[in-house]
Amino acid sequence: MTPEPGASVIHILDQATVNKIAAGEVVERPASVVKELVENAIDAGARSIRIELSASKEKITRIRITDNGCGMSPVDALLAFVPHATSKISGIGDLDTIRTLGFRGEALASIAAVSHVILITKPQDSGTVAGTKIVIAGGTVQETSGVGAPEGTSILVEDLFYNTPAREKFLKSVNTELAQIHTIMEGVCLSHPECSFRLFYNNHEQLVTDRSTRSIDTIARLYGTEVVKHLFPVDASCPFMTIAGYLSQPSLTRKDTARMLVIINGRFISSPLINGAVKAGYGTLLARDRFPVTFLSLQIDTRLVDVNVHPTKKQVRLSREKEIADAIKKAVLDAVLSQDLIPAADSPVQGIISQPVVADKEPAYTYPVTEVAPSGVSESTHAGTIDSDQRLRQTELLTGISPVPSKLPAIEVIGEFGGIYILGRTDTGELVVIDQHAAHERILYEQVVLRLKGDHHSQELISPFVLHRTPKEASVLKDLLPALMLEGFVLEDFGRDTFLVRAIPVVLGRMEDAGIIDEIISDLVSDAATGPVNNRERITRVIACRGAIKAGTVCTREQCQRIVDQLRQAQNPYTCPHGRPTIIRFSRTDLDAMFKRT
Ligand code: ADP
Ligand code: MG
Repeated sequence: MTPEPGASVIHILDQATVNKIAAGEVVERPASVVKELVENAIDAGARSIRIELSASKEKITRIRITDNGCGMSPVDALLAFVPHATSKISGIGDLDTIRTLGFRGEALASIAAVSHVILITKPQDSGTVAGTKIVIAGGTVQETSGVGAPEGTSILVEDLFYNTPAREKFLKSVNTELAQIHTIMEGVCLSHPECSFRLFYNNHEQLVTDRSTRSIDTIARLYGTEVVKHLFPVDASCPFMTIAGYLSQPSLTRKDTARMLVIINGRFISSPLINGAVKAGYGTLLARDRFPVTFLSLQIDTRLVDVNVHPTKKQVRLSREKEIADAIKKAVLDAVLSQDLIPAADSPVQGIISQPVVADKEPAYTYPVTEVAPSGVSESTHAGTIDSDQRLRQTELLTGISPVPSKLPAIEVIGEFGGIYILGRTDTGELVVIDQHAAHERILYEQVVLRLKGDHHSQELISPFVLHRTPKEASVLKDLLPALMLEGFVLEDFGRDTFLVRAIPVVLGRMEDAGIIDEIISDLVSDAATGPVNNRERITRVIACRGAIKAGTVCTREQCQRIVDQLRQAQNPYTCPHGRPTIIRFSRTDLDAMFKRT
């Protein structure tokens, strides 16, 4: 329809339409209704909250939330449904010190605009005075009356989106919607362990938590005691924040961040920043595509947290992001390092091992069948022994630069297997199997990192040597020269794809062998464009990998013992720089069970 020339085409929308449009932001799906109503109950000081869901095959038909919180007077009960009506703030300044989950005054108005609602409420300590019942359809009040009721509030929501068919069409299957509700409830239960929650679905109890002051109880309730076995606590504070919660051992990881739960000031939120900081705190303990299970509750100075950035408040904006992230990373690192993280033989650590975590070019381990004598005992070769000796002596020189109390028990080597594994006996009476290459790689890695903090990490070669590359490799290498320089490699571009190697990192000192340097450069050049790991980290890892004793080189018993002794000096002796385990233990009980001696 073409309007007449000069006629006005703009008009102001009526309130009912405005409310429906606004509702679209807050109430996306049934889970949003549950979230908003449960949050209201928590804000009302409830200690017991009941969630009842009913569903047909196609959709969730009824949602009822009942609480024993403060309740509302008849006047407030009506006001509560007016858009922007709230008891939680009076002005924008109050957001600086906000302690409640709600403050926008939108939820009840939005929910009522797109459904049929019955509210029954009665204030605390109101004795025999009747409660209030309000019936609303599509935002219009149909009925208010007095009614006998317990203290607290109950809100029944039916026919969600009955008057917004476009929204209704986008609802997913009942199971998907239920899963969403479960996710919301897990966050709510964990962030408010002081409340007990009961969730019913078609009259069947689905989820129950008891009131508890210990979040670990709630975690056990929600995820099971098996998960709890793999958790350890984290506790730290700095002037603007306290950090409390639980982290999973590297034996329990996931391929995504879905089990990294973050609560800020009692609010369950999603924060890639914080997830990233937690992951960074684990450092090389985790493969880069694995994520820990974490439950973190942060109390942050409310002035640093802007809660008003998202209509459903799923995200918050943090001031001093970097300091917060750094503090979290450090807290996680400290907590991780205080743990005994040697995986037991029966733990699901295989989940980690079997991951394709290898970021370097190392070939998959293969048993050197030809080297193994028929008896199964491997012979060491003379050349191999000398080479390993050089590599070992190099790291020995540097071990103990800053001695730390060992995180591993004392280990006596009792043998080796296939040139790959070292077998040992701990002073605590356990059998341990150590991956020879991974262990030495870890030792070297830490030394490279430590050396970089010092001054003299580069040493000149007595006789510089020439490296020749393909044109493509040469151009990659040219870009890498500054980063290599930082790590102690001095390479001069000679033109025509030729480079002169003048100096190498001190940690490679005794290995002045062109072969290793050539390998390192090849690895770096072929890896250059891949992965999120920065150049320095990658160079460090490649040096560690190439400088370490090789898998498949049979070491003497004495050499094995030296590797173990050096590993015991490592800050993190548990994994190689790529996150694979260096050591696995078999207790007597484990072995007895395997041999069915129990
Ligand atoms: P907000 O939570 O942002 O204030 P809502 O629309 O969710 O906005 O709720 C409006 C008001 O209704 C709240 O501020 C509160 O005073 C009151 N209210 C809502 N739910 C409850 C409840 N379960 N118990 C007591 N009061 C409630
Ligand atoms: Mg609210």
